[in-house]
Amino acid sequence: MELPVREDLKDLSPYGAPQIDVPVLLNTNENPYGPSEALRGAVAAAVAATAGTLNRYPDRDATDLRKDLADYLGHGLTADRVWAANGSNEIIQQLLQAFGGPGRLALGFEPSYSMHPLISKVTCTRWIAARRDEDYGLSADTAVRQIREHAPDVVFLTSPNNPTGTAMDLTVIEAAYDAADAGIVVVDEAYHEFARTGTPSALTLLPGRPRLVVTRTMSKAFAMAGARVGYLAAAPELIEALLLVRLPYHLSSVTQAVARAAIEHRAEPLASVEVIRAERDGLVEWLRIHGLSVADSDANFILFGKFADRHAVWQGVLDRGVLIRETGPAGYLRVTVGTAAEVAAFRTALEDFI
Ligand code: PMP
Repeated sequence: MELPVREDLKDLSPYGAPQIDVPVLLNTNENPYGPSEALRGAVAAAVAATAGTLNRYPDRDATDLRKDLADYLGHGLTADRVWAANGSNEIIQQLLQAFGGPGRLALGFEPSYSMHPLISKVTCTRWIAARRDEDYGLSADTAVRQIREHAPDVVFLTSPNNPTGTAMDLTVIEAAYDAADAGIVVVDEAYHEFARTGTPSALTLLPGRPRLVVTRTMSKAFAMAGARVGYLAAAPELIEALLLVRLPYHLSSVTQAVARAAIEHRAEPLASVEVIRAERDGLVEWLRIHGLSVADSDANFILFGKFADRHAVWQGVLDRGVLIRETGPAGYLRVTVGTAAEVAAFRTALEDFI
């Protein structure tokens, strides 16, 4: 029987990074370091403290969590300028529900994060696949030209970009904001904590820019992908618009408690970020020594190529027990930076192909 699924969903396929059971998982850009015993204890205690109140709905506005996130972000931010949801994917969905929708346009520069177009389509927002420069970077000229041409309601800028890994100059963001005229500009900074030293955050651009949004996540640097917590910083008026579309009590008491415990103990995951950055820089160098073309990485993953048959390389590496991601421009593959042992396993697996 054919179900009456929306016509406009019929040509879409669900988000599907493979979840394959192999020893080394380097395909979804998670932090490879699980919580220590001390952090596990703190999370368990936070959940236990919440358990007795689970008959009640959670704090609808997640005020304490938003205050903790604002303190972590700094830049003079306060709880009314921060919003949280179930992963930055839900943040993106809420932004598109409030500022996109039927008759509206969202624009992003591809290749970039695949959920920006997918969530746009699901919210009935027309997606404009704008182009990056030849080298997959994004200059202010390239961004401004395409934004002016389409006058989108929502512009996505991903910095560091996924899957290329490189952060964007703040001047590009400023130029895109000015060109967007009345549209909102969303800077997706999911990987910001991994950026090379001296890379400024778009948070510095928020004062005086009421249409600018900076999104972050606890899934990467904070090593909390399983907890599903994403957040944003923006002007209070913009956040008030999101209250119109969020579901009541969208963020469970358990999630809020776990997130707050993780923020309190953030020294641990943030120390692992330093280890991952060093491992990343070493792997970039190794791949380049082996003659591969590698994008500069400000993230916890690396885009490398170019292979005549990337699928064969992906499959060969998988056959050796290492799952990486077949994504990005033709001929390229993406690998998440894991622990030293995982990266060594990846190097060994790849050696047969280079
Ligand atoms: N933005 C980018 C650029 C990402 O790569 C990801 C996850 N891979 C997300 C947002 C969403 O992450 P989450 O929903 O786990 O916060």
